[in-house]
Amino acid sequence: MSTELLFRDDAYAKSGSARVIAVDERGIELDRTIFYPMGGGQQGDTGALVRANGERIAIVDTRKGDTMDSVRHVAEPSAPLPKPGETLALELDWPRRYALMRLHTALHVMSCVVVAPVTGGNIAPDKARLDFDIDMSLLDAGKIERETNALIARGIETETVWITDQELDARPELVKTMSVQPPRGGGRVRLLRIPGIDLQPCGGTHVRNIAEIGAIRVLKIRSEGRRNRRVEIALAG
Ligand SMILES: [Zn+2]
Repeated sequence: MSTELLFRDDAYAKSGSARVIAVDERGIELDRTIFYPMGGGQQGDTGALVRANGERIAIVDTRKGDTMDSVRHVAEPSAPLPKPGETLALELDWPRRYALMRLHTALHVMSCVVVAPVTGGNIAPDKARLDFDIDMSLLDAGKIERETNALIARGIETETVWITDQELDARPELVKTMSVQPPRGGGRVRLLRIPGIDLQPCGGTHVRNIAEIGAIRVLKIRSEGRRNRRVEIALAG
């Protein structure tokens, strides 16, 4: 069963309501959701689903389901489980998600400062990283930090753009991340555009204006193998 993914059009939706369409030990499926399921290196959302009687179901993770656009809201093991058909209020852990959005968008900016193929990445609420296929001698923490922060300070609005699978096939240079192929199968692919800085396929959640990132600092750079030079960042403030 598929779920309407409200975060795709509005990453700033912090609350809402939805109807339960299925429940099993792996999670709760809703007809629509503001919870982002883990994917593209970004961790799944947490928060709560609230029943009409006020009972709260703590959501400790969100994962993709078995079919396209299906989402499993993973409840705390001791939480009460709702019934199909029930209407629930959705409450996101917004400070955590907003940190993920700021760090995620920061990685887009940093990927244009370090010009090399991306071999991996991860976004957690407190830190994020990209792995590059690049020579260690070309990675300078101070320079990456300065140049990324200079781009962030330009305060550019981000845009979501959709193209067809065929258009993406015709422009393979758009895919920087070798380890994560853009989600396909729906006939169209979502791109994030930061005009003048970055354009690449991405299904994640981003801030509206890169100024919201504030500034980043490089926590460390280390080698995780010949094709994995890892640059780890955090929000500076
Ligand atoms: Zn993204």
